[in-house]
Parts: sequence; structure tokens; C-alpha cells
Amino acid sequence: MKSSFCVLFILFSSAITFAQNDVQIDGRLKPHLDNFFDYCKEYKIDYYDKLFELKNIDVVDTLHLSPQASTLGMLTRDKNNNVENIVINWVALLDQEILKVVAFHEFAHYFLEYEKHICDDCGKIMAIVNTSYFDIVKDWDNQVKMLFEESPILKRRKTVAYLDQDSD
Ligand SMILES: [Zn+2]
Repeated sequence: MKSSFCVLFILFSSAITFAQNDVQIDGRLKPHLDNFFDYCKEYKIDYYDKLFELKNIDVVDTLHLSPQASTLGMLTRDKNNNVENIVINWVALLDQEILKVVAFHEFAHYFLEYEKHICDDCGKIMAIVNTSYFDIVKDWDNQVKMLFEESPILKRRKTVAYLDQDSD
């Protein structure tokens, strides 16, 4: 009797540990993440499970920095190639508008499954570089609409819906 109690207890406590497998989120990125998730809800995109597969959403001082081109953010992966962290260069914190664009860009890589960029420098959130963050922020609502409506995760959903219809 005593041993079965122990097994049960271990199972129970490991379930709790799993549920508490929390992701560390830098407070300076949290408002942007909450805002991004509001859009996910609007577009019915699940983000909850994916969020808890991450370890950190963090601001770091280890990304490449130079006057010509800095890496403002990136996803880092574990040895199995699964995304582990979303990291933002501290330099993006110097301007709230740049931070907003960079944060949405990196969140979209992960949560909206943008594996590639859509262009070199076309003034959209998912461009490789942006010469003018200001232009994007000026047109923010429209930019976010494009980001979500043209996202790989929603495009895939549309294809599946189409295939379903087709098989009727
Ligand atoms: Zn990117």
C-alpha cells in the first residue's frame, strides 16, 4: 500500500512540474507579446502550447552589433533544431517604435511560422531589413493585418479548408 502511494505521488508531482514548465519573459517585451496574442485571438491562432515550448523571450547583449547592420533579434534553437528562445538585441530598446516592429517580427517567425522573410527591404514587418521603422509604425494597423493575413500558418489553414471542401 505504501509503495503504490509513492508511485501515485511521483506521478502527481511530475504532472505539476510539467504544468509549471514556465517560460521566462522579459518585462520590457511582455506588453508587446500580450498585444501580439490579442491579434492571435482575433485570428484564432493558437499560441498557448507553443509559448510553453519556449524557455526564454529575452533581451540580450550578445547579438551582432555594428554601425552598418546589427542583428536586432533572432530565434535560437536547441540541438534538435527546436526553437528554444526568442531573443531581442538590447539596442532595439533604445527606440520604442523599433522595439515594437522587431518584437512582432520575431514573434511572427515563431508563432505565425514565417520560416523565411518576404523581401529584402520592402517596408513590411517581415522584410529582412527595414530602412524605415517609422514608416511601418505609421501604418501599423494595416501592417499587422498583412502580417497575420499573409502568414504561413493561416495560409496552410486555408489550403486545408479548401482540400476538405474538395473531397466532399
Ligand atoms: Zn527575421
